[in-house]
Amino acid sequence: MRFHFPIFEFPPEAEALRAEVRAFVTEELAAGRWKKGGDFASNYDPAFSQRIGARGWLGMTWPKRYCGHERTMLDRLVVTEELLAASAPVAAHWIGDRQSGPLLLRYGSEAQRTEFLPPLARGEIFFSIGMSEPDSGSDLASVRTRATKVDGGWTLSGRKVWTTFAHRNHYAIVLARTGDAGAQRHAGLAQFIVDLKSPQVNARPIVNMAGQKEFNEVVFDDAFVPDDRLVGEPGGGWTQVTSELAFERSGPERYLSSIRLVEAALACAREKPTPRVREALGRMSAKLMALRTMSLAVAAQLQNGEAPNLEASLIKDLGNAFEREQIAVFRALASDLPKHSDDYLSALAQTTVYSPSWTLRGGTREVLRGIVARGLGLR
Ligand SMILES: Cc1cc2nc3c(=O)[nH]c(=O)nc-3n(C[C@H](O)[C@H](O)[C@H](O)COP(=O)(O)OP(=O)(O)OC[C@H]3O[C@@H](n4cnc5c(N)ncnc54)[C@H](O)[C@@H]3O)c2cc1C
Repeated sequence: MRFHFPIFEFPPEAEALRAEVRAFVTEELAAGRWKKGGDFASNYDPAFSQRIGARGWLGMTWPKRYCGHERTMLDRLVVTEELLAASAPVAAHWIGDRQSGPLLLRYGSEAQRTEFLPPLARGEIFFSIGMSEPDSGSDLASVRTRATKVDGGWTLSGRKVWTTFAHRNHYAIVLARTGDAGAQRHAGLAQFIVDLKSPQVNARPIVNMAGQKEFNEVVFDDAFVPDDRLVGEPGGGWTQVTSELAFERSGPERYLSSIRLVEAALACAREKPTPRVREALGRMSAKLMALRTMSLAVAAQLQNGEAPNLEASLIKDLGNAFEREQIAVFRALASDLPKHSDDYLSALAQTTVYSPSWTLRGGTREVLRGIVARGLGLR
């Protein structure tokens, strides 16, 4: 068996947590603190991140000595799926909580953990991922941003693209070349914690298809990065970057992007669903349950310290296909919905405009399928 998706159930304490998160969401909505259905760019809300930080829902699995909460990956999954299903404004803390924090926990120095993890867990600082470059996205080993050793640190020069929220976040973990690769393509890379407000770092938003400022081009113009901001060892960048990917690829954000559309369609059809609507809902619910079970299995494996990279790649690919299928299905059902609410129309427009990005962010479909094929021994 090359893939491993053991069946897990959420334990009773996770279900108690779910009730707590739902009550919190209801309270937030009743207080009008945010509205359901914002797009990703308008879902950037530092005050919300601080509120959930105060509840102990950021850095949930991290040790208490870094202001984490020593809860399980399954508890974390409960919180993320509930917040995503409610389209809560999670964008500010999303990357730091999901992958920069765990990366620092695993490879960072004690000083880095002490400096960065507590404010991350409180929702006070936010991180970006600085991997992709103009000529280097899928093939990350080809990055050209260079870090040159100088007294007391490194100078960084080069350019990153698609760096989500670099114009608003505080730091990015940047993958750069510290040495020549030589015969081994994956050698000579390192990761640095870069202060995005430094004068030699310039983040310029790239307006997306929806007209929103979400991702950026980031230029490093001989930006000085002190020695103590190197994460891990020079040369260890490749292993570190690939270890982030299971965190990035397996979560519910990979199959809940279009859930808002399903909810809006359901609300229109609730009173008298036609047989076609019933059939579609049944089919989509079964797929959703399968994806959720797979995601739960990956969360449990991460909890056990395993690195389920293949399983995570499979979930992302299947999840993205599912998200797109949902849009096609619920658009085709438009004539079965007795009245088209504003919510349905705006959800349809929003998911249609954003959906092309879903199969790109976090690794393209072709690349993921390549990983899956390798896992099956086909290449
Ligand atoms: C909304 C969004 C947010 C993003 N946020 C970030 C971020 O915060 N930080 C960050 O670093 N990056 C980010 N990205 C970038 C994303 O990770 C890259 O777009 C992605 O990795 C693909 O890289 P590329 O765009 O350079 O395309 P390329 O790598 O140039 O790929 C172009 C096409 O060729 C195909 N292809 C490439 N290699 C192979 C291969 N070996 N076999 C078969 N087909 C192949 C790809 O599948 C794709 O269809 C974001 C992207 C999006 C859309």
